[in-house]
Amino acid sequence: TALVIAIDGTSGSGKSSTSRGVAGRLGLRYLDTGAMFRAMTWWLLREGVDVHDVAAVAAACGRPVIESGTDPLAPTITVDGVDVSVEIRSDEVNAAVSPVSAVPEVRSLLLDLQREVIGTGGIVVEGRDIGSVVWPQAELKVYLSADPDARAQRRALEEGGSDLASTQQSLLERDRIDSGRATAPLTMADGAVHVDSTHLTLPEVVDRIVTLAEE
Ligand code: C5P
Repeated sequence: TALVIAIDGTSGSGKSSTSRGVAGRLGLRYLDTGAMFRAMTWWLLREGVDVHDVAAVAAACGRPVIESGTDPLAPTITVDGVDVSVEIRSDEVNAAVSPVSAVPEVRSLLLDLQREVIGTGGIVVEGRDIGSVVWPQAELKVYLSADPDARAQRRALEEGGSDLASTQQSLLERDRIDSGRATAPLTMADGAVHVDSTHLTLPEVVDRIVTLAEE
C-alpha cells in the first residue's frame, strides 16, 4: 500500500504511542524521525562536538551511519550498527537535540534518509515537519497537540517519575527552539487535521486517526 500518514506535533503530545498504535492497527510500518535527530545528537555529544557550534555540527554530521527499523512493535535506531534506543532518551540528548536539529546540514542529510525509508509508502511517520516538508503529499496529515500540563505528566510518567516541573520546562524549551528555527520549523501543515489529545485517552486518539485514514 502507498498510504503515508504524517503525524506532527509538539514534544510530549503523544506522537510516538499514537503513531505506533495507528501503524499497528492498519498494518503499516512506522518511522520515528525524532529518534534520528536524537541519534545524531547522541553521536555528536559522544564525539565531543560542541552542539552549539553550528559550523562544527555541520562539518561532522555526515560521519555517523544512522539506520531506523520500522516495525511498530519493536522500532530500532542504530548508529554505526549499534542500537542506541535507550541512550537517545537521556537528559543530555533532550537538552542538545533542538539546537542540533536547527542546523540546515543536519536537516538535509536526515531528510534524504527519511524519504528513502518512506519509499513507496505504507508507513506512519512522526516528527515536526513531515506534513510540511518531508512528505507534503501524505494522504493523511495530523497535527497532534496537548496542554503543557498533560504533556509533562505523561512524559514524567514514561520516564519513571522524573520531576514534573523540570520535565515541563524541557518540553517547552524544545518547542520554543523547534517552532522558532529558520529551517522547517514546527508548524501545522497545510491540510493537516488538528487533534487535541489533552482530554482523550491513547486508544481514543488512535481510533480518531484510524477513522480519518479509512474515510
Ligand atoms: O519527537 P522527539 O521529541 O523525539 O524529537 C526530538 C527533537 O528532534 C525535537 O525536539 C526536534 O528538535 C527534532 N525533530 C525535528 N524534526 C523532526 C523530528 C524531530 O527537528 N521531524
